Amino acid sequence: MNKTIILNSRPVGKPQLSDFKFVEEEMPALKEGEILLKTKFVSVDPYLRGRMSDAKSYVPPFELQKAMSSGVVAEVLESQNEKFKKGDFVSGMLNWKEFQTSIGENLLKIDDKIAPLSNYLGVLGMTGLTAYFGLTEIGKPQKGETLVVSGAAGAVGSIVGQIGKILGCRVIGIAGTDEKVEMLKSKFGFDEAINYKTTENMTKAIAEVCPDGVDVYFDNVGGTISDSVHANINRLGRIIVCGAISAYNDTSVPQGPRVEHFLIRKSALMQGFIVGNYADKFPEGMKHLSQWLSEGKLIYSETIVEGFENIPQAFIDLFEGKNKGKMIVKI
Ligand code: NDP
Repeated sequence: MNKTIILNSRPVGKPQLSDFKFVEEEMPALKEGEILLKTKFVSVDPYLRGRMSDAKSYVPPFELQKAMSSGVVAEVLESQNEKFKKGDFVSGMLNWKEFQTSIGENLLKIDDKIAPLSNYLGVLGMTGLTAYFGLTEIGKPQKGETLVVSGAAGAVGSIVGQIGKILGCRVIGIAGTDEKVEMLKSKFGFDEAINYKTTENMTKAIAEVCPDGVDVYFDNVGGTISDSVHANINRLGRIIVCGAISAYNDTSVPQGPRVEHFLIRKSALMQGFIVGNYADKFPEGMKHLSQWLSEGKLIYSETIVEGFENIPQAFIDLFEGKNKGKMIVKI
Protein backbone atom coordinates (compact mmCIF):
# COMPACT_ATOMS: atom_id res chain seq x y z
CA MET A 1 0.00 0.00 0.00
CA ASN A 2 1.02 3.59 -0.64
CA LYS A 3 0.94 6.20 2.12
CA THR A 4 -0.48 9.67 1.34
CA ILE A 5 -1.02 12.80 3.46
CA ILE A 6 -4.21 14.70 2.66
CA LEU A 7 -5.63 18.02 3.86
CA ASN A 8 -8.28 16.95 6.37
CA SER A 9 -9.48 20.38 7.51
CA ARG A 10 -8.59 24.01 6.91
CA PRO A 11 -6.66 25.34 9.92
CA VAL A 12 -8.06 28.17 11.99
CA GLY A 13 -5.02 29.92 13.44
CA LYS A 14 -1.98 27.72 13.89
CA PRO A 15 -2.11 24.44 11.93
CA GLN A 16 -2.74 21.31 14.02
CA LEU A 17 -1.81 17.68 13.33
CA SER A 18 -5.56 16.96 13.00
CA ASP A 19 -5.66 19.22 9.91
CA PHE A 20 -3.75 16.42 8.14
CA LYS A 21 -4.79 12.81 7.61
CA PHE A 22 -2.76 9.76 6.61
CA VAL A 23 -4.49 7.50 4.11
CA GLU A 24 -3.38 4.33 2.36
CA GLU A 25 -4.00 3.77 -1.33
CA GLU A 26 -3.25 1.09 -3.89
CA MET A 27 0.25 1.42 -5.37
CA PRO A 28 0.00 3.48 -8.58
CA ALA A 29 0.18 1.56 -11.88
CA LEU A 30 2.57 2.88 -14.50
CA LYS A 31 1.12 3.95 -17.87
CA GLU A 32 2.80 4.69 -21.18
CA GLY A 33 4.81 7.96 -20.98
CA GLU A 34 4.94 7.94 -17.18
CA ILE A 35 7.61 7.43 -14.53
CA LEU A 36 7.19 5.81 -11.12
CA LEU A 37 8.73 7.94 -8.38
CA LYS A 38 9.82 7.14 -4.83
CA THR A 39 9.90 10.18 -2.55
CA LYS A 40 13.31 10.81 -0.95
CA PHE A 41 13.12 14.35 0.52
CA VAL A 42 10.13 16.64 1.15
CA SER A 43 10.37 20.40 1.60
CA VAL A 44 8.08 21.98 4.19
CA ASP A 45 7.64 25.71 3.72
CA PRO A 46 5.76 28.54 5.47
CA TYR A 47 3.85 29.46 2.26
CA LEU A 48 2.00 26.14 2.42
CA ARG A 49 0.00 27.65 5.33
CA GLY A 50 -1.60 30.08 2.87
CA ARG A 51 -2.56 27.24 0.54
CA MET A 52 -4.29 25.41 3.40
CA SER A 53 -6.80 28.29 3.67
CA ASP A 54 -9.59 28.74 1.15
CA ALA A 55 -8.24 32.12 0.06
CA LYS A 56 -7.37 33.47 -3.36
CA SER A 57 -3.62 33.91 -3.80
CA TYR A 58 -0.88 33.52 -6.37
CA VAL A 59 -1.25 29.72 -6.08
CA PRO A 60 -4.61 27.97 -5.72
CA PRO A 61 -5.57 26.59 -2.28
CA PHE A 62 -5.13 22.88 -1.53
CA GLU A 63 -8.37 20.96 -1.91
CA LEU A 64 -9.89 19.31 1.13
CA GLN A 65 -9.44 15.52 1.27
CA LYS A 66 -6.82 15.71 -1.52
CA ALA A 67 -3.07 15.14 -1.23
CA MET A 68 -0.85 17.95 0.05
CA SER A 69 2.08 18.85 -2.17
CA SER A 70 5.34 20.80 -2.02
CA GLY A 71 8.87 20.67 -3.38
CA VAL A 72 10.00 17.03 -3.44
CA VAL A 73 13.14 15.15 -4.47
CA ALA A 74 12.33 11.69 -5.79
CA GLU A 75 14.04 8.70 -7.38
CA VAL A 76 12.83 7.21 -10.64
CA LEU A 77 12.03 3.55 -9.89
CA GLU A 78 10.61 2.67 -13.31
CA SER A 79 10.29 4.61 -16.53
CA GLN A 80 8.09 4.44 -19.59
CA ASN A 81 9.19 7.95 -20.56
CA GLU A 82 12.23 8.32 -22.80
CA LYS A 83 13.40 11.48 -20.98
CA PHE A 84 13.98 9.61 -17.70
CA LYS A 85 15.64 6.35 -16.76
CA LYS A 86 15.55 4.14 -13.68
CA GLY A 87 17.89 5.55 -11.04
CA ASP A 88 17.53 9.21 -12.10
CA PHE A 89 16.77 11.75 -9.38
CA VAL A 90 14.28 14.57 -9.99
CA SER A 91 12.96 17.57 -8.10
CA GLY A 92 9.69 19.40 -8.55
CA MET A 93 6.26 20.07 -7.09
CA LEU A 94 4.94 16.64 -6.14
CA ASN A 95 2.40 15.15 -3.77
CA TRP A 96 3.02 14.07 -0.18
CA LYS A 97 2.97 10.40 -1.20
CA GLU A 98 5.58 7.72 -0.71
CA PHE A 99 5.20 6.65 -4.34
CA GLN A 100 3.56 8.43 -7.28
CA THR A 101 3.52 8.48 -11.05
CA SER A 102 4.22 11.50 -13.21
CA ILE A 103 4.47 12.34 -16.89
CA GLY A 104 7.66 14.19 -15.97
CA GLU A 105 6.30 17.66 -16.75
CA ASN A 106 8.09 20.41 -14.77
CA LEU A 107 10.42 17.90 -13.16
CA LEU A 108 14.10 18.82 -13.11
CA LYS A 109 16.72 16.10 -13.35
CA ILE A 110 19.23 16.61 -10.54
CA ASP A 111 22.68 15.21 -9.91
CA ASP A 112 23.81 14.02 -6.47
CA LYS A 113 27.43 14.27 -7.66
CA ILE A 114 27.09 18.07 -7.97
CA ALA A 115 25.38 18.59 -4.60
CA PRO A 116 23.59 16.49 -1.97
CA LEU A 117 20.03 15.81 -3.15
CA SER A 118 18.35 17.79 -0.35
CA ASN A 119 20.19 20.96 -1.46
CA TYR A 120 17.90 21.10 -4.50
CA LEU A 121 15.01 21.92 -2.13
CA GLY A 122 17.00 24.67 -0.41
CA VAL A 123 20.06 26.58 -1.48
CA LEU A 124 19.88 25.24 -5.06
CA GLY A 125 16.08 25.34 -5.12
CA MET A 126 13.19 27.63 -4.30
CA THR A 127 14.55 29.20 -1.12
CA GLY A 128 18.04 29.89 -2.52
CA LEU A 129 16.55 31.50 -5.63
CA THR A 130 14.18 33.56 -3.46
CA ALA A 131 17.13 34.88 -1.48
CA TYR A 132 19.17 35.62 -4.59
CA PHE A 133 16.52 37.37 -6.68
CA GLY A 134 14.76 39.22 -3.85
CA LEU A 135 18.05 40.68 -2.70
CA THR A 136 19.71 41.43 -6.02
CA GLU A 137 16.67 42.48 -8.11
CA ILE A 138 14.79 44.55 -5.52
CA GLY A 139 17.35 45.29 -2.80
CA LYS A 140 20.19 46.07 -5.24
CA PRO A 141 22.68 46.21 -2.34
CA GLN A 142 25.80 48.29 -2.85
CA LYS A 143 29.20 47.67 -1.30
CA GLY A 144 29.41 49.25 2.16
CA GLU A 145 25.64 49.45 2.66
CA THR A 146 23.86 48.06 5.73
CA LEU A 147 21.54 45.10 5.13
CA VAL A 148 19.11 43.87 7.80
CA VAL A 149 17.50 40.43 7.41
CA SER A 150 14.57 39.14 9.49
CA GLY A 151 13.95 35.39 9.76
CA ALA A 152 17.72 35.41 9.34
CA ALA A 153 18.48 31.90 10.58
CA GLY A 154 15.95 30.26 8.25
CA ALA A 155 16.24 28.85 4.75
CA VAL A 156 15.89 32.13 2.86
CA GLY A 157 17.35 34.47 5.50
CA SER A 158 20.59 32.57 6.05
CA ILE A 159 21.34 32.71 2.32
CA VAL A 160 20.31 36.38 1.99
CA GLY A 161 22.75 37.41 4.72
CA GLN A 162 25.63 35.49 3.17
CA ILE A 163 24.96 36.91 -0.30
CA GLY A 164 24.91 40.34 1.36
CA LYS A 165 28.40 39.64 2.76
CA ILE A 166 29.64 38.39 -0.64
CA LEU A 167 28.39 41.69 -2.16
CA GLY A 168 30.28 43.70 0.45
CA CYS A 169 27.48 44.78 2.81
CA ARG A 170 27.45 45.08 6.56
CA VAL A 171 24.86 42.46 7.53
CA ILE A 172 22.61 42.32 10.60
CA GLY A 173 20.32 39.34 11.27
CA ILE A 174 17.21 39.05 13.44
CA ALA A 175 16.25 35.61 14.82
CA GLY A 176 14.37 33.99 17.69
CA THR A 177 16.95 32.22 19.89
CA ASP A 178 20.40 32.97 21.32
CA GLU A 179 21.69 29.82 19.61
CA LYS A 180 20.52 31.14 16.23
CA VAL A 181 22.04 34.56 16.96
CA GLU A 182 25.37 32.92 17.72
CA MET A 183 25.14 30.74 14.61
CA LEU A 184 24.47 33.77 12.39
CA LYS A 185 27.69 35.38 13.55
CA SER A 186 30.01 32.40 13.90
CA LYS A 187 28.81 30.17 11.03
CA PHE A 188 27.28 32.51 8.46
CA GLY A 189 29.52 35.55 8.99
CA PHE A 190 26.82 38.11 9.90
CA ASP A 191 28.34 41.21 11.52
CA GLU A 192 25.68 41.45 14.21
CA ALA A 193 22.54 39.58 15.19
CA ILE A 194 19.60 40.31 17.51
CA ASN A 195 17.28 37.92 19.37
CA TYR A 196 13.85 39.51 18.87
CA LYS A 197 12.32 37.38 21.61
CA THR A 198 14.59 38.69 24.39
CA THR A 199 15.11 42.28 23.17
CA GLU A 200 12.75 44.77 24.79
CA ASN A 201 13.16 47.72 22.45
CA MET A 202 13.86 46.44 18.94
CA THR A 203 13.84 49.91 17.35
CA LYS A 204 16.60 51.01 19.72
CA ALA A 205 18.52 47.73 19.35
CA ILE A 206 18.52 48.06 15.55
CA ALA A 207 19.61 51.71 15.78
CA GLU A 208 22.52 50.63 18.02
CA VAL A 209 23.83 47.92 15.66
CA CYS A 210 23.13 50.06 12.57
CA PRO A 211 24.76 53.40 13.44
CA ASP A 212 24.56 54.46 9.78
CA GLY A 213 20.92 53.35 9.45
CA VAL A 214 19.44 50.57 7.29
CA ASP A 215 19.89 50.74 3.53
CA VAL A 216 18.29 47.40 2.60
CA TYR A 217 15.78 45.42 4.66
CA PHE A 218 15.00 41.85 3.55
CA ASP A 219 11.76 41.06 5.37
CA ASN A 220 10.74 37.45 5.94
CA VAL A 221 8.46 37.97 8.92
CA GLY A 222 6.52 41.28 8.93
CA GLY A 223 4.72 42.51 12.06
CA THR A 224 6.35 44.36 14.94
CA ILE A 225 9.88 43.24 14.00
CA SER A 226 9.47 45.01 10.67
CA ASP A 227 7.93 48.10 12.30
CA SER A 228 11.20 48.52 14.20
CA VAL A 229 13.34 48.11 11.09
CA HIS A 230 11.17 50.54 9.07
CA ALA A 231 11.78 53.17 11.76
CA ASN A 232 15.53 52.90 10.99
CA ILE A 233 15.36 52.90 7.19
CA ASN A 234 17.70 55.30 5.40
CA ARG A 235 16.99 57.77 2.64
CA LEU A 236 16.51 55.82 -0.62
CA GLY A 237 16.39 52.59 1.40
CA ARG A 238 14.88 49.43 -0.13
CA ILE A 239 12.44 47.19 1.77
CA ILE A 240 12.06 43.75 0.19
CA VAL A 241 8.83 42.12 1.35
CA CYS A 242 9.51 38.41 0.91
CA GLY A 243 7.34 36.89 3.64
CA ALA A 244 5.17 37.72 6.64
CA ILE A 245 5.25 34.54 8.70
CA SER A 246 4.32 36.45 11.89
CA ALA A 247 0.85 36.94 10.41
CA TYR A 248 0.27 33.67 8.54
CA ASN A 249 -1.83 32.18 11.36
CA ASP A 250 -3.80 35.37 12.07
CA THR A 251 -7.52 35.17 11.47
CA SER A 252 -7.88 38.85 10.56
CA VAL A 253 -5.50 41.31 8.92
CA PRO A 254 -3.36 42.66 11.79
CA GLN A 255 -3.12 46.43 12.24
CA GLY A 256 0.23 48.02 12.94
CA PRO A 257 2.03 51.33 12.86
CA ARG A 258 1.68 52.82 9.40
CA VAL A 259 4.72 52.62 7.16
CA GLU A 260 3.79 55.43 4.78
CA HIS A 261 5.50 58.27 6.61
CA PHE A 262 8.82 56.37 6.75
CA LEU A 263 8.60 55.68 3.02
CA ILE A 264 7.77 59.30 2.19
CA ARG A 265 10.26 60.93 4.54
CA LYS A 266 13.07 58.65 3.37
CA SER A 267 12.04 58.29 -0.30
CA ALA A 268 12.28 54.56 0.41
CA LEU A 269 11.05 51.74 -1.81
CA MET A 270 8.95 48.84 -0.48
CA GLN A 271 8.25 45.97 -2.85
CA GLY A 272 6.76 42.53 -2.48
CA PHE A 273 7.60 39.68 -4.84
CA ILE A 274 7.23 35.98 -5.45
CA VAL A 275 10.21 34.00 -6.64
CA GLY A 276 8.31 32.77 -9.72
CA ASN A 277 8.47 36.36 -11.09
CA TYR A 278 12.11 35.60 -11.95
CA ALA A 279 11.59 32.14 -13.48
CA ASP A 280 13.23 33.15 -16.77
CA LYS A 281 16.38 34.09 -14.85
CA PHE A 282 16.59 30.95 -12.68
CA PRO A 283 19.60 29.55 -14.61
CA GLU A 284 21.55 32.74 -13.79
CA GLY A 285 20.59 32.44 -10.10
CA MET A 286 21.52 28.74 -10.01
CA LYS A 287 24.88 29.51 -11.60
CA HIS A 288 25.81 32.04 -8.90
CA LEU A 289 24.46 29.97 -6.01
CA SER A 290 26.20 26.75 -7.10
CA GLN A 291 29.46 28.58 -7.77
CA TRP A 292 29.45 30.30 -4.35
CA LEU A 293 28.55 26.97 -2.75
CA SER A 294 31.41 25.12 -4.46
CA GLU A 295 33.86 27.91 -3.59
CA GLY A 296 32.82 27.67 0.08
CA LYS A 297 31.54 31.27 0.05
CA LEU A 298 28.03 30.07 0.88
CA ILE A 299 27.54 27.80 3.87
CA TYR A 300 24.38 25.75 3.65
CA SER A 301 22.51 24.60 6.70
CA GLU A 302 19.48 22.36 7.02
CA THR A 303 17.37 20.75 9.72
CA ILE A 304 16.58 17.23 8.61
CA VAL A 305 13.60 15.46 10.18
CA GLU A 306 13.34 11.73 9.40
CA GLY A 307 10.21 9.83 8.40
CA PHE A 308 7.20 10.31 6.13
CA GLU A 309 4.90 10.33 9.18
CA ASN A 310 6.70 13.43 10.52
CA ILE A 311 6.01 15.73 7.53
CA PRO A 312 3.01 17.52 9.16
CA GLN A 313 4.86 18.09 12.46
CA ALA A 314 7.95 19.40 10.65
CA PHE A 315 5.70 21.88 8.85
CA ILE A 316 4.01 22.99 12.10
CA ASP A 317 7.43 23.37 13.75
CA LEU A 318 8.33 26.14 11.27
CA PHE A 319 5.95 28.39 13.21
CA GLU A 320 7.78 27.56 16.44
CA GLY A 321 11.19 28.34 14.94
CA LYS A 322 12.40 24.75 15.47
CA ASN A 323 14.47 24.82 12.26
CA LYS A 324 17.92 26.22 11.63
CA GLY A 325 18.38 26.75 7.90
CA LYS A 326 16.11 24.78 5.57
CA MET A 327 13.55 22.42 7.11
CA ILE A 328 13.57 19.14 5.15
CA VAL A 329 11.96 15.77 5.77
CA LYS A 330 13.98 12.72 4.73
CA ILE A 331 11.91 9.71 3.80
P1 NDP B 1 12.31 29.63 7.50
O1 NDP B 1 13.30 28.58 7.22
O2 NDP B 1 12.79 31.01 7.82
O3 NDP B 1 11.39 29.11 8.68
C1 NDP B 1 10.47 29.90 9.33
C2 NDP B 1 11.14 30.72 10.47
O4 NDP B 1 10.33 31.84 10.74
C3 NDP B 1 11.22 29.97 11.79
O5 NDP B 1 12.35 29.17 11.91
C4 NDP B 1 11.18 31.09 12.82
O6 NDP B 1 12.50 31.48 13.19
C5 NDP B 1 10.53 32.27 12.07
N1 NDP B 1 9.23 32.60 12.67
C6 NDP B 1 8.20 31.75 12.91
N2 NDP B 1 7.17 32.44 13.47
C7 NDP B 1 7.59 33.72 13.58
C8 NDP B 1 7.00 34.92 14.09
N3 NDP B 1 5.74 34.92 14.59
N4 NDP B 1 7.72 36.07 14.07
C9 NDP B 1 8.97 36.08 13.58
N5 NDP B 1 9.59 34.99 13.08
C10 NDP B 1 8.90 33.83 13.08
O7 NDP B 1 11.32 29.77 6.29
P2 NDP B 1 11.74 30.14 4.79
O8 NDP B 1 13.14 30.64 4.79
O9 NDP B 1 11.38 29.02 3.91
O10 NDP B 1 10.77 31.35 4.48
C11 NDP B 1 11.01 32.63 5.07
C12 NDP B 1 9.90 33.58 4.63
O11 NDP B 1 10.00 33.79 3.23
C13 NDP B 1 8.51 33.05 4.90
O12 NDP B 1 7.69 34.11 5.32
C14 NDP B 1 8.07 32.53 3.55
O13 NDP B 1 6.69 32.50 3.41
C15 NDP B 1 8.75 33.52 2.63
N6 NDP B 1 9.02 33.02 1.28
C16 NDP B 1 8.63 33.82 0.25
C17 NDP B 1 8.90 33.46 -1.03
C18 NDP B 1 8.51 34.38 -2.13
O14 NDP B 1 8.56 33.98 -3.30
N7 NDP B 1 8.13 35.60 -1.81
C19 NDP B 1 9.52 32.16 -1.36
C20 NDP B 1 9.97 31.43 -0.19
C21 NDP B 1 9.70 31.86 1.08
P3 NDP B 1 12.82 32.26 14.57
O15 NDP B 1 13.32 31.24 15.54
O16 NDP B 1 13.84 33.25 14.17
O17 NDP B 1 11.52 32.87 15.05
